[in-house]
Amino acid sequence: DLVKDEDLEILADLGAGNGGSVTKVWNKKRGCIMARKLILVDAKPSVRKQILRELQIMNDCNSPYIVGYYGCFLVEVHVGVVMEAMDAGSLDDICRKNGAIPINVVGKVAEAVLRGLMYLYDVHRIIHRDIKPSNILANTKGEIKICDFGVSGELINSIANTFVGTSTYMSPERIQGAPYTIKSDVWSLGISLIELATGRFPFQDSNEATDSEGEDSDEEEQTHDPDPTLPVSFRRPQLPEKSNTTPKAKKSKKAGVSLGGGGHTMSILDLLQHIVNEPAPRLVSRKRKFPEEAQLFVEGCLDKDPAKRSSPQELLASEWITGSTMTPADLQEWAKSLAGSTET
Ligand code: ADP
Ligand code: MG
Repeated sequence: DLVKDEDLEILADLGAGNGGSVTKVWNKKRGCIMARKLILVDAKPSVRKQILRELQIMNDCNSPYIVGYYGCFLVEVHVGVVMEAMDAGSLDDICRKNGAIPINVVGKVAEAVLRGLMYLYDVHRIIHRDIKPSNILANTKGEIKICDFGVSGELINSIANTFVGTSTYMSPERIQGAPYTIKSDVWSLGISLIELATGRFPFQDSNEATDSEGEDSDEEEQTHDPDPTLPVSFRRPQLPEKSNTTPKAKKSKKAGVSLGGGGHTMSILDLLQHIVNEPAPRLVSRKRKFPEEAQLFVEGCLDKDPAKRSSPQELLASEWITGSTMTPADLQEWAKSLAGSTET
């Protein structure tokens, strides 16, 4: 039996993103904690009902690498989606609170994302379309899973109409209008892995970027508040830029950290142009030495030519993944050690 909104008691805010907000809820009927996402869908009733029908595919998505799905419904102007609550939060939050993630853990993240992507594609012919650290979640059992994949064409359309989900994890060919393929997700994975391993988003302001690695500092070392009035110079901008009253605003403020104070900022269009025209970023850091297998893996993800870019199968067979010595117990230990759980 699927979850209904009236079964749910609100416990706490888990976060807000592009057109959605996520709440930790208590399911009275089942006696367990879940996560409820509300997505603003400005569309006519027939479209909203179609979205609910399309979301039903999530019922059949069962994989240890996919966040569990419990049901969906309409709530006023929103579509509600109830899913498994992941108690260590998103890797984006983890990285912000704890700084760069140990490279052996990042390897396990890469493996989980690839297995999740392959499951979605091989079993359901679904392409994720939005791989980024905030859509990779962890729990204190040491599990890593992906969420927010593009199951509903109508939902993708409706969100696109209100927010336009252009993100800077997008591959060069997608920026140039080519259709999504699983290789576009591989690119987004590569960008995400660099961000997790170094603690900072790889596309910096152009001055810094040509400096190769300016100062490769962790988030934790730049704890000063970014200027909340910064216009379009967020670390992870979205198109088009909405006013600071959108749900994203809270997050964008935090996301501005790594550009803080420098005064050099890259506009969104400059950034997208940079992704298309400049060499792809690499897994390098002045402060850390990454294993060569990890660097090669990321290089495989970030070939600008999708035809030459590695496939998920090839990446899973690579040395970095097959040679990992990290056990499930190690992963659990890492997840449990994290500072500032999503518990509020
Ligand atoms: P975005 O992914 O763009 O950040 P979302 O609305 O999808 O925006 O999610 C907002 C935040 O809510 C995420 O960054 C994540 O920290 C949190 N979140 C989403 N889903 C879950 C979940 N199932 N369990 C725990 N936290 C979640
Ligand atoms: Mg998300």
